[in-house]
Amino acid sequence: MFQIRNKDVAGRIGEIRTRSGSIRTPALLPVVNPIKQEVEVDVIKSIGFESIITNAYILKKRREREALERGVHRLLGFQGPIMTDSGGYQILEYGKIDVTPRDIVEFQEKIGSDIAVILDLPTGADLSREEAEKRVVETIKSARESINYRSRSDMLWVYPVQGGVFLDLVSYSSSIFRELDYDIAAIGSPTPMMERYMFPALVDVIVTAKSVLPPSTPIHLFGAGHPMIFPLIVALGVDTFDSAAYILYARDDRMIFEDGTVRLQDIEELACTCPVCTKITAKELKSMTKYEREKHIAIHNLYISMREIKRIREAIRGGYLWELVERRARSHPRLYSALASLSKYRSFLAKHAPFLKTRIRGIFLFDEVSLARPEVALHEERLLENYTKPQHSKVLVLVGILEDKPLTSSEKYLKLRNMVTAVFGGNENLVHVAFYHPFWGIIPEEISECFPLSQFEMSVEACKRRGIVEHAERIILNYLLKNSYNYTIVIVSEDFSEICENVLKTLRKLMGERCIETDWNTLGKVLSFLKEKISRFSGHCRDSYM
Ligand SMILES: [Zn+2]
Repeated sequence: MFQIRNKDVAGRIGEIRTRSGSIRTPALLPVVNPIKQEVEVDVIKSIGFESIITNAYILKKRREREALERGVHRLLGFQGPIMTDSGGYQILEYGKIDVTPRDIVEFQEKIGSDIAVILDLPTGADLSREEAEKRVVETIKSARESINYRSRSDMLWVYPVQGGVFLDLVSYSSSIFRELDYDIAAIGSPTPMMERYMFPALVDVIVTAKSVLPPSTPIHLFGAGHPMIFPLIVALGVDTFDSAAYILYARDDRMIFEDGTVRLQDIEELACTCPVCTKITAKELKSMTKYEREKHIAIHNLYISMREIKRIREAIRGGYLWELVERRARSHPRLYSALASLSKYRSFLAKHAPFLKTRIRGIFLFDEVSLARPEVALHEERLLENYTKPQHSKVLVLVGILEDKPLTSSEKYLKLRNMVTAVFGGNENLVHVAFYHPFWGIIPEEISECFPLSQFEMSVEACKRRGIVEHAERIILNYLLKNSYNYTIVIVSEDFSEICENVLKTLRKLMGERCIETDWNTLGKVLSFLKEKISRFSGHCRDSYM
């Protein structure tokens, strides 16, 4: 029922098949209120939403007979996939509700939901650990029990992952998913976290759940809220999410944009080209009746949300989702903190990212935050775990080259290789050249054209940042601990002076006099000197190669 078609970072484009049609993911399911819905369902559909979510508990309480007679699709006037929530959110809001897990399962089956949620007990973000644990246990009990009440096989059932800010509980709750027969895992309770901009905590919850849940399972996030967080949650592997933000914000006269929210009263010009904003002025919008205004703003909010979803899907296809996440992270300092917190999840991202990816452009490397991107982590992992230096090399020349890519086509590299040939004659394979680099640490010459080692743009200013210098130094040192050479020559480059300084200091400790610092003027002499040394002291070397 779920097919993954494309991937970038841990995000994916996929297709969830339901009885009422397919949902292209990532997808936002707008919340449709079964009692009072300002924006007609047809309008929501015309904006591009393929599926919606409504609340089965409210339907049961307020329009039960009608829902049972007509079914949820006819009742709401929407023929595409409909997901129904169980009332867990109402428990979170009001503490208690008066239905049983069995009532909710049977009701959702009878009204013909395509994707149904069992009755869960959300943990929110404020409960004590003890209370949170109790709710996780109750939700698991409800999940086990609810399977027995199911009689239809043409619906998708959702297992709610609870635990809130207690990550061990999130992990435990996620681990039970594998034992039970459910189609989709939904991460519960993020709404209080989103309302309070607890974005780093949200990242922790998503990564914890994703690390335990099977990779092929579609992941839903309840109440995802504002479009500015969509790129981040998708990049972490969330496939679908629902939100009532479009109407909740509209009721408050707040217009949603990809990078934040603005109150209508503070707007003089509608800087938006959606069909709503191109037809009216801010002044006209302000002078509408409250009902009309709400409706107009809600439709604008839906257009903006849909545009962001399409943009995310394009970014996954084009391989620049990470860049989109970085851009959106600048919308709010807490969102930026959430992005920065990804550095602790480098191996998670590297594990979930596609190994080979067709991209429409090279990757952008800005600052320390970019170190968390999967390409950087994957390079480090492959370099330090799988790579071994060329068999016969005895001298490593480390050179930093800023301009020109691929690096092996650069003028400096060609000059260096010519010098090596001139000095070593037919034995130039004794010399191995590698590029030292702020983001990649080390790029051995023979792999420098592999993606993405020549397909990137970086901020030169970043080379001076402490976090980046330390990152590069760590990789270079680990590389040299794994691959031993008789000599290492470091050609000092002004562009990377901080890195050179640090690396030289460490290498001198490691290699003593076998680490030689040089510049382009004295490089020829150093090479000749080393050629002499190698031929004099290495019998094996002389016999075989010199
Ligand atoms: Zn607009």
